[in-house]
Amino acid sequence: MPATPGRSCGSCTLCCQVLEIDEFDKPAGQLCGDCRLGGGCKIYKKRPEVCRDFECEWLTERDVAVVLNPHRTGVLFMIDADSDEYLAVCDPKKPHVWRQPLVFRHLLAKAKAGHVVVAKAGTFAWRVYPNGESAPWA
Ligand code: SF4
Ligand code: SF4
Repeated sequence: MPATPGRSCGSCTLCCQVLEIDEFDKPAGQLCGDCRLGGGCKIYKKRPEVCRDFECEWLTERDVAVVLNPHRTGVLFMIDADSDEYLAVCDPKKPHVWRQPLVFRHLLAKAKAGHVVVAKAGTFAWRVYPNGESAPWA
């Protein structure tokens, strides 16, 4: 899907840090060894397919406000391809950044719209419910 006009990854590398990438055994929260200091991929032209295919929700979806730029919030929004859950993926070293008011408001709106919303940080996960409550999620 093309990026929403006016949006680009810029110096954001949050997905290269927070996501677990099975294809090359990268654990969640550890910056990929091919990530350049200050932003960008050292092997951009030859980056793996899984990296070429990935776009976070902020990049492609207009309903994710500009201020929710993952580089700024430390939270990456994505839809889990297997479970269809709406994920807010955070750095395991900052596991509660999804509780920032602007981020939480977005997650609550998604939950009210019928999504199963889950905040994740490494092996920890919390479900955000439409009534504004949240609880650990297996
Ligand atoms: S988290 Fe989103 S905006 Fe940031 S680098 Fe990844 S795809 Fe781009
Ligand atoms: S290979 Fe490049 S695009 Fe893929 S995670 Fe590493 S730095 Fe990011």
